[in-house]
Amino acid sequence: MTTSIASQLELLQQEIAKSREKHLNFKDNVRLVAVSKRQPIEKIEEAYLNGQRDFGENFVQEGVEKIHKLDKSDLQWHMLGAIQSRKCKDIAEHFDWVQSVDRVKVINKLNQARQGRSPLNVCIQVNLFGEEQKAGVDADTCFELAEQIENAENLTLRGIMALPPKQTEYNKQLSQFETIAELYRQLATRYPQVDTLSMGMSGDYEAAIAAGSNMIRIGTAIFGQRD
Ligand SMILES: *Cc1c(COP(=O)(O)O)cnc(C)c1O
Repeated sequence: MTTSIASQLELLQQEIAKSREKHLNFKDNVRLVAVSKRQPIEKIEEAYLNGQRDFGENFVQEGVEKIHKLDKSDLQWHMLGAIQSRKCKDIAEHFDWVQSVDRVKVINKLNQARQGRSPLNVCIQVNLFGEEQKAGVDADTCFELAEQIENAENLTLRGIMALPPKQTEYNKQLSQFETIAELYRQLATRYPQVDTLSMGMSGDYEAAIAAGSNMIRIGTAIFGQRD
């Protein structure tokens, strides 16, 4: 098992480097978030021992348990899942990033709960293709939320996170990611601290990097199938 997570991480870093080279996005590093939801702590430890530092979780309680168990100061934990407002306190106290912010109430609660600490890194989850079963906001709402986050003293607006409709064809993946990248560029023009375009998962990260993603979120391609 040890060699398999290590070799998957190495392979992914090689693939990232190849994609960057091919698409000349050299100015941007591509940050790899290992999505460890429903994966056992042993596998996360293995990834850590092999140099992985960013981990993503979808469920607050599961994430908080893992954060306590691992207890490493050089780890960065990313909340990726749907946010219930009553969980905002736990999120603000334990996570370093929240990528799934999609409403004002959550912004206010996170801001309040983060008081007295370094600002929480926030991405707005966007949903530009009208998928009702998924969270996320349209472009207009994205700009409204961005202004709220900008005015929240304990939050730092870092960018957007997207989970576009699943496509198997590369060109369809690319075209969706390019639409999202266009919105990201508009946001980054308005807010100079915005530096994170989080898109691309195990099945589509190459197209995401080609479109300009600088943070990919990979679960199964690192850890194997989830429990
Ligand atoms: C589960 C999940 C991922 C990782 O998906 P894989 O297909 O396992 O790579 C990435 N982002 C979000 C928001 C997720 O919920």
